[in-house]
Amino acid sequence: MQTVLSQRLAAVAEFVPQGARLLDVGSDHAYLPIALIEDNTISFALAGEVVKGPYESALHNVANAGLNDKIAVRLANGLAAFEPEDKVDVITICGMGGGLIAEILAAGKAKLASVERLILQPNNREDELRAWLMTNGFKLVAEHIMTENDKYYEIMVVEHGHMHLSAEDLRFGPFLMQAKSPVFCARWERELAKLELALSHIPENRVADRTAMIQKIDAIKEVIHESK
Ligand code: SAM
Repeated sequence: MQTVLSQRLAAVAEFVPQGARLLDVGSDHAYLPIALIEDNTISFALAGEVVKGPYESALHNVANAGLNDKIAVRLANGLAAFEPEDKVDVITICGMGGGLIAEILAAGKAKLASVERLILQPNNREDELRAWLMTNGFKLVAEHIMTENDKYYEIMVVEHGHMHLSAEDLRFGPFLMQAKSPVFCARWERELAKLELALSHIPENRVADRTAMIQKIDAIKEVIHESK
């Protein structure tokens, strides 16, 4: 039976090129590589996991799907899961904080030279991750935002190259801000409501705190309320 991905992982899968040799870092259950093999998008993958429980769950699911010859499951920290002879050309890192994704990339940076594309799905700190990418010789080639179970998720498709991102780009995402999809607007409307509530609780005499909060609020209003 074909593995059914969450909408979040299905959205990530859309950006995996046909025929890629994939490493999925922090694969947990290994659903993403399994589904990509099953639908013939790819024919080889590595599933890397640093924690024993999820590693064992990945081993179990890969064996159950009868894919031991196509997916190697490795107990490894971050990019230590692959070697040059694996010829990995695409890496996915999904469902972790943006700071942790940047740390994983930084720790194995030299190994990224031979990798063509990174597909990253941070759960938070997207700005921090974009800043790391910009200062380390990577450029965004696409971004996507989607929602599932009342949460918003950003997906970044990254290749080697240069980009210059303003503070606004870092926070909102250059492609997302340009496309200004209904999901993007809903995500930032929700953030706006949160910050406006927080502002209402800051006493009038804490001027610096109020000013900082008002600036954050105004920046969001400018992005979501200006026409495309
Ligand atoms: N990628 C899957 C997804 O998006 O549904 C699983 C996400 S799960 C929340 C995060 C996984 O990353 C956990 O299984 C965790 O053990 C693993 N992880 C965290 N840090 C890691 C690292 N440095 N190297 C490999 N795996 C890591």
